[in-house]
Amino acid sequence: MSNSAAQLAEVRERLARAARDTGRDPAEITLVCVSKTFGPEDIRPVLASGERHFGENRVQEAEEKWPALRTDYPDLELHLIGPLQSNKAREAVALFDVIETVDREKIAEALAKEIKRTGKHPKLYVQVNTGAEPQKAGILPEDADAFIKTCRETYGLEISGLMCIPPVDDQASPHFALLNKIAARNGIKIMSMGMSSDFELAIQLGATHVRVGTAIFGKR
Ligand SMILES: *Cc1c(COP(=O)(O)O)cnc(C)c1O
Repeated sequence: MSNSAAQLAEVRERLARAARDTGRDPAEITLVCVSKTFGPEDIRPVLASGERHFGENRVQEAEEKWPALRTDYPDLELHLIGPLQSNKAREAVALFDVIETVDREKIAEALAKEIKRTGKHPKLYVQVNTGAEPQKAGILPEDADAFIKTCRETYGLEISGLMCIPPVDDQASPHFALLNKIAARNGIKIMSMGMSSDFELAIQLGATHVRVGTAIFGKR
């Protein structure tokens, strides 16, 4: 077994245990394998093991890697988890099945235009900057409700999920709890939260999607 396939097996066990410990069905939690910086030789064993959800943080890197992999695995679901520039909306809509990082009106507008032009409908999540970190992407928590409403009503976008990346030095649980609250009051069912170091905690706090890189693919 390749290294990434072996580590994947361990991540699946951790995920299933965390779900069962919280009385949840492991099948309701989607593992998004974060393959940024890794090449097809590392990604293929994970695809061969049955995983179909992958996360990339850069549009251009994903464009170089994924069209060939998709030819072999047409049912895979590719998530954009990194910041999106509005001038890359065309490429992003063409390539990704899920865009997790909608976080400002300019992006919402560019995506709406591209969705209308192409008829392609990637699932859209709003990224919330739960720690209000100045250097980090995401809408501020206090602006989230209004932004979600603008996306829906002004731009006709279907917002199906929320995503957050807690500050590295903080306890993650208040951030996960905050995302959960914002999701609940906006009628949003999907919560993308939790990474290699804290995905079990995220599952306890309601994550439907966890984004795991290092624990599967190794150090970047
Ligand atoms: C890189 C990345 C991850 C994965 O982080 P790991 O700690 O390697 O599991 C998850 N989410 C986002 C947004 C990332 O950029």
